[in-house]
Amino acid sequence: MTSGNVTTSVSDGSIVLRPGATLGILGGGQLGRMIALAAARLGLAVHVYCPDPASPAFDVARAKTIAGYEDEAALAAFAAAVDVVTYEFENVPERTAAVLTERVAVRPGARSLAISQDRFAEKTFLSDLGIPVAPFAAVDGVEDLVRAVETIGLPAILKTRRFGYDGKGQITLKPGFDPQAAYDAIGRAPAILEGFVPFALECSVILARGLDGAVEAFDIAENRHENHILKRTRVPAAISPETERRARALGAQVAHALDHVGVLAVELFLVRDAAGERLVANEIAPRVHNSGHWTEDGATVSQFEQHVRAVAGWPLAAARLREPVEMENLIGDDVDRWHEILAEPGAHLHLYGKAEARPGRKMGHVNRLKA
Ligand code: AMP
Repeated sequence: MTSGNVTTSVSDGSIVLRPGATLGILGGGQLGRMIALAAARLGLAVHVYCPDPASPAFDVARAKTIAGYEDEAALAAFAAAVDVVTYEFENVPERTAAVLTERVAVRPGARSLAISQDRFAEKTFLSDLGIPVAPFAAVDGVEDLVRAVETIGLPAILKTRRFGYDGKGQITLKPGFDPQAAYDAIGRAPAILEGFVPFALECSVILARGLDGAVEAFDIAENRHENHILKRTRVPAAISPETERRARALGAQVAHALDHVGVLAVELFLVRDAAGERLVANEIAPRVHNSGHWTEDGATVSQFEQHVRAVAGWPLAAARLREPVEMENLIGDDVDRWHEILAEPGAHLHLYGKAEARPGRKMGHVNRLKA
């Protein structure tokens, strides 16, 4: 901890930051960068820890550590230099989190990380809460896969339990598939088989939970993916008011069950059938989320400020939609349109300062207010 006068403790001993305290951020990508910008606006100093010397968040932080997540000496020095640690990605290695947690408050906590890092633990956790998920089974070999397909049916999706993102580490299985080839295709890693959900649309609930357990959910976002990467988010989503209410309640239930402190996203499928609309939960992200970028311009508070408030132990802001909005991710060469986007009325451009626009790389986003 940096010094006594920038933090105070509440009754249970938890640390509450004061302006001037230092927020440590694990991970230096665009999410870390936007958390850092929000923290700076609230008078906090930011120290970013990331192995990549070209991290976009370094540009906007007071201090940086360039070191691996396994470097325990560097982690200990980082913990000593900051007042609270948060992270921009859920695949924080368990040992990294443990080294930090022994020395400094890490928010969100270990349970949020453990559950969201493992798709089988995540699906089990959600279904234990009574939240609908796709039928699923653990797959640890070709025989498991064959058995799981017999139970779950086809089409189905085989996903690695860990380290999957943006559609990586997953393969769709259709009738006639070769079990050995499918298992080889995901690297013979511990996996999960999920029944295919015939969704009408994908949406997400993003909320913040404070240190005191208060929850503020944003309006539900409707998401469209291209090549497995989020392309557009629009708010309000084309869903019924009852579905909107259920999605918010489901998000709050997840956050409370994890004792989560910070922003959290739950990715959802919306299925429409004769019975009406129903929600099926897909994935929990224990962090700020790409489908929440619209909040920077379309809501009364951004997800990044809300996250900073939560992890600092501060009151949350009321999270209301100000105007209908659509977020477009600028992926790869899309970013070359920056000049014309700047000229568009109602368009708010956000660029991440990445030097090279490789295909599939998130370079920025634009929020278009629709009012
Ligand atoms: P995930 O990596 O689990 O977020 O999955 C990436 C994308 O694959 C999702 O956003 C969906 O478009 C699709 N997908 C994943 N799981 C399923 C499923 N069980 N049924 C249908 N589509 C899925």
